[in-house]
Amino acid sequence: MENKMSRIVMKFGGTSVGSVERINHVAKIVKSEVDLGNQIVVVLSAMAGETDKLINLTKDLSKSFENSEYDVVISSGEQVSAGALSGLLNSQGIKAQSRLGWQIPIVTSGDHKSARIEAIHSKELINLLELNEVIIIPGFQGINSEGRITTLGRGGSDTSAVAIAAAIDADFCDIYTDVDGVYTSDPNKVATAKRLDKISYEEMLEMASLGAKVLQTRSVETAMNNDVVLRVLSSFSDIGEDKNGTLVCDEDSIADKKIVTGVAASTNDAKLTLIGIKDKPGVAAEILSVLADDGINVDMIVQNISDDRKTTDLTCTVPSDESIRAKELMEGLSSNLSYKDLIVDTNISKISIVGVGMRSNAGVASQMFRVLSENNINIDVISTSEIKISVLINKDLTEKALNTLHDHFELGNISN
Ligand code: ADP
Ligand code: ASP
Ligand code: MG
Repeated sequence: MENKMSRIVMKFGGTSVGSVERINHVAKIVKSEVDLGNQIVVVLSAMAGETDKLINLTKDLSKSFENSEYDVVISSGEQVSAGALSGLLNSQGIKAQSRLGWQIPIVTSGDHKSARIEAIHSKELINLLELNEVIIIPGFQGINSEGRITTLGRGGSDTSAVAIAAAIDADFCDIYTDVDGVYTSDPNKVATAKRLDKISYEEMLEMASLGAKVLQTRSVETAMNNDVVLRVLSSFSDIGEDKNGTLVCDEDSIADKKIVTGVAASTNDAKLTLIGIKDKPGVAAEILSVLADDGINVDMIVQNISDDRKTTDLTCTVPSDESIRAKELMEGLSSNLSYKDLIVDTNISKISIVGVGMRSNAGVASQMFRVLSENNINIDVISTSEIKISVLINKDLTEKALNTLHDHFELGNISN
């Protein structure tokens, strides 16, 4: 795509480095960019399945495994990938060296398991690039102000790559993955999904936060705030083949503003419903602040007043792996807040349509609700923002809902 010498951050995900064969292919892709005279930083994920294995190890050891050591354990998969690729490149005569997060350093906030990158010391990286060394950096990891290893949340290597691209003023940040770009919906769930040539930062931010895990949400936020030119490409194409991919860019660079650009599904939420709460001011605030104080993110919230106007039902969603804790906290409330029942439902999924064109087009929500009801898909909870509409449905109907909405909004025929 580029003809003058460029500075490029190339990130490869877990499947892309999942075997000896795949790591060899990554080395070929990196070599092809080095041969063009480009300055290259490579950011790597752990080999596919490794992070899950490491997480399970900590769980097998203890139910209350300490967070700071958890990060030491689960960041190690990325170190293996970085050393492996660097060693391989050197054996092929390409000058490369690995640099771990703490060596650079990539400084993060203190919160283990989901730290935020605060600063990246880029001077030495730039010196090495000027000497034509390829730098290989494990994604997902950093160091906090206390000198402890931190990790950036699942899928965090995308964010490492974008933040490094911003810090070294790279021309491109290329996210190589197991699909050849961002699609109108998850191509593994919707057979007619179509690759988008371009998607705006705003739409990508919504798609990512609503379940399109092709990019970690924070990576899109970081790219948007730092004007990083972000491309999503396939690591499975042959060397020399056209890299079409998807460019994530400013809305202004996209001529055709579609009403609906994509459909996403998130299956990692749980729904908590408190039934028969006394209807008095401050109740919702009190319940939600108990969750917030414990660091539990509440997403959708609905409150219904009952017929007698004396009690209300409150429904909210939280990440499913925090639902047990959220339930415990709500049960702890019952002494000062009376309610009749508490129901936790993890068999839900959130289906969302996203598009910047929704800002100027009324009636999209009613179309969405009608199409779902015509297909016997019951809507539980609704939430909207300027460029997205989300509904909560039964998890078993996830693929049906995705495909129904994808067909209805004719996303398979979308023109790039
Ligand atoms: P990596 O290991 O490279 O980080 P991920 O598994 O995190 O890759 O992300 C790639 C996956 O994202 C794809 O295999 C695809 O199933 C999923 N995905 C979900 N929504 C989309 C979408 N709209 N476009 C492309 N891929 C998507
Ligand atoms: N290995 C980490 C994970 O599986 C980070 C990443 O791959 O981006 O979440
Ligand atoms: Mg990923």
